[in-house]
Amino acid sequence: MKAKILLIEDNAQNRYLATFLLEQRGHTIIPAETGPLGLEIAVRERPDLILLDIQLPGMDGHAVARAIKGDPSLRSIPIVAVTSYAMVGDREKCLAAGAEGYIEKPINPETFVAEIERFLPTSPRDAAP
Ligand code: MN
Repeated sequence: MKAKILLIEDNAQNRYLATFLLEQRGHTIIPAETGPLGLEIAVRERPDLILLDIQLPGMDGHAVARAIKGDPSLRSIPIVAVTSYAMVGDREKCLAAGAEGYIEKPINPETFVAEIERFLPTSPRDAAP
């Protein structure tokens, strides 16, 4: 499926790369630079998936994930955390906060889109030709 993906990421270069790679595959990207703005857009746009940076100013990605999963109208949206934290236990922390998936930065352009698409409700491979 061609998905509507909310990208919550404060770093302009990371936003640019993720947007470029996903748009190349036909997906629509809605960018948000902060957690609170991301939450606002999630309510309004009902994206198919949320890509969530963890290191965000003010409200970090764990807090954003908990807020999304605590909202009955949003909790069915899959969250993929994207983080540069290579700390032991961080993956578990993301999953505990409600993220379905976890991708480490730096983004690998060869595998990024396929990794994201695994978390879409219906993968393009399942679609009728
Ligand atoms: Mn960041």
